[in-house]
Amino acid sequence: MTTTATARVTGIQASKRVENVRYAIRDLAVLADEIARQGHKILPLNIGDPLKFDFATPPHMIAAVEKAMRDGKNGYAPSLGLESALEAIRDEAERKGIRNVQSVFITAGVSEGVDLCLTALVDPGDNVLTPAPDYPLYSAVLAKLGAEPNPYFLDESRNWEPDLEDIKVRINARTKAIVLINPNNPTGNIYSRKLLEQVAELARQHNLLIIADEIYDKITLDEEETISIASLAPDVPIVTFGGLSKPYLVPGWRVGWGIASGDAPAIGPFLEGVHKLLRARLCINYPQQFAIKPALEGPQSHLAEMAAKLRKRRDLTMKWATLTPRVTLVKPTGAFYAFPKIDIPEDDLTFVKELLRQKHVLVVNGSGFGQRPGTQHFRIVFLPEEGVLARAYQAITDFMAERYN
Ligand code: PLP
Repeated sequence: MTTTATARVTGIQASKRVENVRYAIRDLAVLADEIARQGHKILPLNIGDPLKFDFATPPHMIAAVEKAMRDGKNGYAPSLGLESALEAIRDEAERKGIRNVQSVFITAGVSEGVDLCLTALVDPGDNVLTPAPDYPLYSAVLAKLGAEPNPYFLDESRNWEPDLEDIKVRINARTKAIVLINPNNPTGNIYSRKLLEQVAELARQHNLLIIADEIYDKITLDEEETISIASLAPDVPIVTFGGLSKPYLVPGWRVGWGIASGDAPAIGPFLEGVHKLLRARLCINYPQQFAIKPALEGPQSHLAEMAAKLRKRRDLTMKWATLTPRVTLVKPTGAFYAFPKIDIPEDDLTFVKELLRQKHVLVVNGSGFGQRPGTQHFRIVFLPEEGVLARAYQAITDFMAERYN
């Protein structure tokens, strides 16, 4: 066989690194597409995109981007981001109580920011403390980098707060950082001041970077305030992530940012690495950055409207969970996710696939996020309108009654 023929037979192989990249949220969508092609209407309780439901982008943000395009802001942007947007983010950092800010940079969503920061931080064999359950981006990026997720448990019996004792025993010589998602995806929980102070102290003692993913900090459903961990520990190296995707209803624009704070000698060397990577990838979308300042400084009324809708949907979700045998649910107070525990005699991936095949309701299996061994969960996105949610919940109840009783 010639060399060309051999290449054709074996194909171009994907790298070993991507073998461990998993993203359950999107992976399940493949099965859903198959079922939709068979003519079934799917009830989508799986993807956290508010724009797929009755939420709309604030018009003044669209106007700002349109104007930027017409004004010829269509070239490359500065690598760290548009200066007026960076200024607005610095002001936002101040409103969040974050001091000792060493750098602010704009990325293609929080997703790119996480990718760049982890790339600048870890070498193969290093590990990063990631929550279990987790938002799967973190373990996917770490897998790509040949680093290890070092999962610490969130404690369902204590309102899904991080299990501090579990974190302590997992820190080792190769641990570089701890990821905190607050408000949390997939549990919808908001962390207490005390917990945040304790995590900051651990990071201080063990020389860890804190990666604070606060993309949902403006989506709160009750009176509970969200506290930025960086506001409690100005000395500790922390990158706080935020963005337009969720609070400002433009996930497709891909605009996020990182606020790096902490004592300069401690965070400086890592930041040099981040800046290098930011320059190497040139910049993110230029026109969309013109929406950052109007978003952060303009009318915020859509946030209250969003919270009012989500509160009703959360309450409906709680009511369903309370009334349904085999289901228990810690009340979500932030973001738009619920992570009910299900007492079933099979694994939760089988549960969600069969639910999809039989009732056409799409949720994501708890095992796709990581969970305590022996427990089963699934994640609900309660963004859809009440009518859709009610139909989906009835279908889940029927499915469970038919399958397990
Ligand atoms: N972080 C968390 C916790 C998320 O839930 C999501 C999206 O669902 C992201 C980051 C990604 O955000 P972005 O659209 O800014 O990349």
